[in-house]
Amino acid sequence: NTLTAMVELVFIVVIMNADLSVRRMMDVEMRKAVANGDFQLHYQPQINEAGKVVGAEALIRWRHAKMGNVPPAEFIPLAEETGLIIPIGNWVLRAACAQLAQWEAQPEAQHLTMAVNVSASQFRQPDFVQSVSEIVRLSGATPSKLKLELTESMFVDNIDATVAKMSALKAIGIIWSLDDFGTGYSSLSALNSFPLGQIKIDKTFVHGMLTNVPNMVVTEAIIELAGKLNLQVIAEGVETVEQLNSLREAGCLNYQGYLFSPPLDIDAFSKFLSPEPPR
Ligand code: C2E
Ligand code: CA
Ligand code: CA
Ligand code: CA
Repeated sequence: NTLTAMVELVFIVVIMNADLSVRRMMDVEMRKAVANGDFQLHYQPQINEAGKVVGAEALIRWRHAKMGNVPPAEFIPLAEETGLIIPIGNWVLRAACAQLAQWEAQPEAQHLTMAVNVSASQFRQPDFVQSVSEIVRLSGATPSKLKLELTESMFVDNIDATVAKMSALKAIGIIWSLDDFGTGYSSLSALNSFPLGQIKIDKTFVHGMLTNVPNMVVTEAIIELAGKLNLQVIAEGVETVEQLNSLREAGCLNYQGYLFSPPLDIDAFSKFLSPEPPR
């Protein structure tokens, strides 16, 4: 009812303005969620120029008994600060790889790739390369179907160590995708310095493209440069046919966004992939 909904809303607003005690409470709740396995993955379809589903991005979901759905943008940053992102991130990778291995066993899903978000503090762990390789190996998934998404913030400190880690995982087949591309500053030089396979054009760019001419020109230039560097380009946050058309004209051939589908739980994703024929 409305009252419960309002109470929940107030609760969430309180969380957003988290003071120290709320943050402590959130930390306790997150620890419980890790222990109880309360997280879930949703999968957002990635679509190619022919309109075919070519992969998915795994996005974490947390449904708390009292707080309701807690958006990742609210708990991931806190988990990064407390270090809890390490067990959470490992769980995400294990769950995503297990799903990828399952897809590989289904004719209609064999071709799918899986993109997984990696946070900066996860990447910075000294045993990151080893733990990722181990998780992928144990899952039985094909490493070249796994894409790891990282952000430019990981490119600022210790470039040599970053390149070394990325190269080690690339060597076993894993593909690196640069998330939120266009929102940082080191963008263009980063394209060349790191062993990337894909860049993901940020949704703020996709949304601004049609109203903002310089934005459009920059997007076109980025797509062209990416092509010359042999990088795949995918646009996120595609919400309208107009956005889709101008991306296509600019040469971007892979898309993700509400125009096609929101992130879906695994049952809904399977239905999206192979809709039941009408009877
Ligand atoms: P992100 O990696 O940039 O993910 C894209 C976000 O955009 C997702 O929000 C997705 O639901 C949303 N989105 C998808 N299509 C559209 C669209 O057409 N329009 C708009 N406006 N938004 C769209 P979500 O799932 O709430 O995740 C937010 C952020 O939380 C992610 O941003 C990512 O940074 C982080 N995150 C989510 N799952 C994980 C995870 O498993 N591990 C880590 N480290 N971070 C995660
Ligand atoms: Ca992402
Ligand atoms: Ca993004
Ligand atoms: Ca982001």
